[in-house]
Amino acid sequence: MISESYQLYSFEHDQQMLQQTPGKSRCYFIVAWENGHCELFLSDVEENFVLLTEDQVNEILHNPVIHYQIQLGEWQEMVYGVVLIDKTSIDSCQWLGLRKKLGLFDDSMFMLAGRALQLCQWQMDHRFCGRCGGKTSTDINDSAKVCNTCQLHFYPRISPCMIVAVTRGEEILLAHHKRANRPVYSTLAGFVEAGERLEDCVRREVFEEVGIRIQSPEYLFSQPWPFPSQLMLGFIAEYASGEIKPDENEILDAAWFRYDALPDTPSNASVAGQLIKFFVEQQKNKGTSK
Ligand SMILES: [Zn+2]
Repeated sequence: MISESYQLYSFEHDQQMLQQTPGKSRCYFIVAWENGHCELFLSDVEENFVLLTEDQVNEILHNPVIHYQIQLGEWQEMVYGVVLIDKTSIDSCQWLGLRKKLGLFDDSMFMLAGRALQLCQWQMDHRFCGRCGGKTSTDINDSAKVCNTCQLHFYPRISPCMIVAVTRGEEILLAHHKRANRPVYSTLAGFVEAGERLEDCVRREVFEEVGIRIQSPEYLFSQPWPFPSQLMLGFIAEYASGEIKPDENEILDAAWFRYDALPDTPSNASVAGQLIKFFVEQQKNKGTSK
């Protein structure tokens, strides 16, 4: 689904490689910290990501308190980094959530921006050790925060979350989620529990949310979802048995829909939208190959 992915920098090796390629242009996302949250700086004119050169970082930010600065990765011959500042370091600009930009930017640009936000949030959320309360430092060799007192390591948090299209012949099971802010029908999703296999998570979540048993769960593709730190793992699975019974806690309504008579569904920028599109195309291809 993702066209051309960016090359991610993670360990010291990559950072060293970067020093040896001074010819490459570099630019930085600006992320600001305020009241426990990180936000991405966007221009107030075109609502585009503002990417600054190294000189501009120094020019535009007046006496910035820089909390964190790192190279994120490389894409289309350009090196991308992030600078995390206090919101007070910059004025007269617009701050918008990255989520609103979903689908408006190239996948790689979106993932780079998401990586920038996630790393900055992790940096600020682990300034102190959760075990002993000591201060932490960044360990660039290990891409970790490490406690100066007890040496406990904290890695950027990534929460695996499965999302599944359950199918029954020409039909797909779609549900109206309580948390949805518009009348859209989507696939089912849930967080992977500690000690749980992905395929068992798919079976459990589907049964808990709509009372259906599934078979043959098959992994298709993934997408980082930095709101705040999910890794969405897209599955497709076949109906096995049971009647739809929405749990009414998370799911208000659920039903089977034929591939050519779908209700409003999420955009193709989301994994849910991509799973639904995958199923529809699969059915159309079946139709044409008959
Ligand atoms: Zn500690």
